Amino acid sequence: MRRMLVAGNWKMNLTTESAAALARAVVQAAGEDGPEVLLCPSYTLIHAVREAVRGSRVTVGAQNLFWEPKGAFTGEVSAEMVLDAGCSHVIVGHSERRQYFGETDASVQRRTATALKAGLTPIVCVGETLEEREEGSTETVIERQVSGALHGFTGEEVAKVVIAYEPVWAIGTGRTATPESAEEVHRLIRNWLAVNYGEEVAEGVRILYGGSVKPENAAVLFAEEDIDGGLVGGASLDAESFARIIAAAG
Ligand code: PEP
Repeated sequence: MRRMLVAGNWKMNLTTESAAALARAVVQAAGEDGPEVLLCPSYTLIHAVREAVRGSRVTVGAQNLFWEPKGAFTGEVSAEMVLDAGCSHVIVGHSERRQYFGETDASVQRRTATALKAGLTPIVCVGETLEEREEGSTETVIERQVSGALHGFTGEEVAKVVIAYEPVWAIGTGRTATPESAEEVHRLIRNWLAVNYGEEVAEGVRILYGGSVKPENAAVLFAEEDIDGGLVGGASLDAESFARIIAAAG
């Protein structure tokens, strides 16, 4: 039985005070039980958010990491630093990283491997662009991204990964994939995992949906068999909206 996970990707938003206030509101919304709840603030806010969620069941993740352990890499943050800041998870390969910062399947693989080695849970993002969907290459793109990110890993390692399917055309656009079309891609990913790592691994890996998840559409998306929660951008910045999304996953 897979546990639902609702993760907020705060992207490059908020400052210390507003982040701590939002985190406290999320702690209230998360309550004592329900889906796993994760907040992914910018690096500079991790400490304040960790303090705000202390003693609650809300966990904190980073939005990226670099694969080198330390040294002359100005502007980068290592897995050890992410762990030291109190994170349990890290997002890797978000489409904004791929689009604006030259992230490739190979670099996503290196970050994923680094996270796993450090004991962090990587949330590996995959998703097709509108152009790729319209030309009918969704399946090819998703398989390429998933196999690229997981290249060289054992089944035991893959079992620790969370995958987020985020169609690029649905991120921040207000356009959500229909539950059926999202489920189709989630199923495709799970089948790919089953073929390559066996049924047991495939059945255990959580696959989140991301792309304009809102209180209004969360319940129908989360009701799909292979959708194990959401990676939520815009709506996670609003305490009430995020609370309703958490409730929809409960
Ligand atoms: C995201 O950035 O991971 C995301 C899904 O954003 P939004 O919910 O705003 O579409």
